[in-house]
Amino acid sequence: MSRMDPLFSHYLDDARRRHVLRRMRLMQPVGAGRVQVADRCFINFSSNDYLGLSQHPDVIARAQEYAARYGAGAQASRLVCGTSEMYAAVEAKLARAKGTEAALLFASGWQANAAVLPALLKLTGQGAASPQVFTDKLVHASLHQGCAAAGVKQIRFRHNDLDHLESLLQAREGTGGQRFIVTESVFSMDGDCVDVYRLAQIAQRHDAFVYLDEAHATGVLGPGGMGLSGFAPGKIDLIMGTCSKALGGFGAYVAGSRALCDYLANTCSGFIYTTALPPAVLGALDAALDLVPTMDTARVQLMANADYLRVGLQALGLETGASSTHIVPAVVGDAQQAMSLSARLETRGMLVTAIRPPTVPQGTSRLRIALSAAHTRADITSLLDALSVSLSRQETADA
Ligand SMILES: *Cc1c(COP(=O)(O)O)cnc(C)c1O
Repeated sequence: MSRMDPLFSHYLDDARRRHVLRRMRLMQPVGAGRVQVADRCFINFSSNDYLGLSQHPDVIARAQEYAARYGAGAQASRLVCGTSEMYAAVEAKLARAKGTEAALLFASGWQANAAVLPALLKLTGQGAASPQVFTDKLVHASLHQGCAAAGVKQIRFRHNDLDHLESLLQAREGTGGQRFIVTESVFSMDGDCVDVYRLAQIAQRHDAFVYLDEAHATGVLGPGGMGLSGFAPGKIDLIMGTCSKALGGFGAYVAGSRALCDYLANTCSGFIYTTALPPAVLGALDAALDLVPTMDTARVQLMANADYLRVGLQALGLETGASSTHIVPAVVGDAQQAMSLSARLETRGMLVTAIRPPTVPQGTSRLRIALSAAHTRADITSLLDALSVSLSRQETADA
């Protein structure tokens, strides 16, 4: 018992009544693209393991090897005694892959975004006019957290509307301090991409620092699969990405100039006051970074499967929005309907998460279908068949 339990219970009961209570279910991955729930195996369309690397034998082997060689934990934070040679090696490999001077590892993507933004904004906020931070309407919760921690008010532009961004920049020309543009290269709930080249041009014209979150692009898109920032080499000031999605492991990185990384290592609370990632995680990342450049065939197959899925969904009358990647929303609209569709798919052996407000705007509840290179064409056909049956059942039930 805690003294606040009555308050907690009140909140939880209320959430249950409003059908928005979140819960964690037990799920065991069984190979890439499959998951076991209770005693049933499902095709998994909900994971971010886009290349199946979390289950790759080389990735697992190197994680085991690093744990056996260096131990279970890093023992300390990076600045104390947690920076062993493998950190320097993996950060150098990341910087090479990203085409930047340097890279810095973080404990997680959430932590990087929440901690790096305040460190950056603090530098420009002193004395001079306060910084201006332009953010896409749909940026990830961790980026909001970073802005909130920095105490800045975001200037939000319409989702992926670079014309709107530019007009906002123009309207505030000559006012305020350093300008920042904060956005993502692939959006997690819509699967659409930003035009990174154009973004870089706009930033150049308006002298804005670009902070680009490549969580869903890293490993999957861009030259060598290392993200869309590769289409504007040297033009993105800060590239952030996570190692927990297509790279199959855990942790995150910031890539950019040497001065940027050194500055963050000196000032960023979420880097300084946390223990370095464990050796097994570094081993997995090291192996994933070796594999990613060799996986062009898997990436081509993944994108072809995504095209096939979008065509199939549209034929069923489901909107896929501006998706052009391995993340494909099937927009249903009503939250309850999205939930019941997800439940129907589950009875047919498919795990597809329903996403509803507040994660997405009201009236745009959807199934979020996340494809993996481990999915076969037959897996996708099964999903489309199951959706077709579930949708017609739903119509019958509604009638
Ligand atoms: C998943 C995600 C993160 C968080 O990364 P973790 O390593 O899982 O903490 C940050 N930004 C975006 C856009 C994401 O989708």
